[in-house]
Amino acid sequence: MSECNLNTFETAWCPGCGNFNILDALKTALCDLKIEPHKVVVAAGIGQAAKTPQYINTNGFCGLHGRAVPPAAAIKIVNKDMTVIIDSGDGDTYGEGGNHFIHNIRRNIDIAHFVHNNQIYGLTKGQASPTTDVGHKTQVQPIGSVNIPMNPILLALSLGAGFVARAFSGDKEHLVSIMKEAIKYRGYAFLDILQPCVSFNKVNTFSWYNKRIYKLDENYDFSDKHKAIEKSMEWGDKIPIGIIYKKEFETYHDKVDFLKDDKALIDLENISSQSLKEYINEFI
Ligand code: SF4
Repeated sequence: MSECNLNTFETAWCPGCGNFNILDALKTALCDLKIEPHKVVVAAGIGQAAKTPQYINTNGFCGLHGRAVPPAAAIKIVNKDMTVIIDSGDGDTYGEGGNHFIHNIRRNIDIAHFVHNNQIYGLTKGQASPTTDVGHKTQVQPIGSVNIPMNPILLALSLGAGFVARAFSGDKEHLVSIMKEAIKYRGYAFLDILQPCVSFNKVNTFSWYNKRIYKLDENYDFSDKHKAIEKSMEWGDKIPIGIIYKKEFETYHDKVDFLKDDKALIDLENISSQSLKEYINEFI
């Protein structure tokens, strides 16, 4: 790859939105890793973050609300040499897409999943999302959110995810480094990215995060699951960022016999269009 330029068009995000750094970080990570654009698919559902496939010059898939994971999983299963990245928001991933998020972790398909977590529904103008803190007032929750916020890091750990990390959109260099580790990881890599929504979340702002976040230091042992669970529950005055847990184990392709072939499923010559048709007909 000569000069790496993954830019596309102007974005429709608000000036100052935390999404910009995440998009830039994703482009930088892919360029640094020298992954050619035609070897990448970025999949998303619906939301502000889910516009990302339209703003990056790679293959892309924009699904229904909450439905980024199924197409991404299907793409990776049949085309194992493709780098598959899901890039979507907290509403799309943890709310509408919660079921897919949970069950994809159990499968351990080799996908990197980046969640722009702004603790609000930005596209629909600021309703509480699954990660909104209790007491956070919005235009439609004037008395404050009363629901217990989801802890996506703890949830991913509890379901056996092998790569669980958190980063902050306000620290792009660190974010790039974690994205690169997630993309290189063999298996499902989950990265929750704290992303201030400057228009509708007036609580969890860049300065709110800057006062609280700290990086896990080099002595932190990310192979220690008990420690990772402890870290996952730190929220409030101190919020850790970095790779919280990492351990490699069998991926979906390792576990399913007919996917173990060196060739990707789409390249296998013994699958004729006729047999594919018969296969599809079994499901309709
Ligand atoms: S509404 Fe919030 S999340 Fe959406 S583009 Fe504007 S600042 Fe970003």
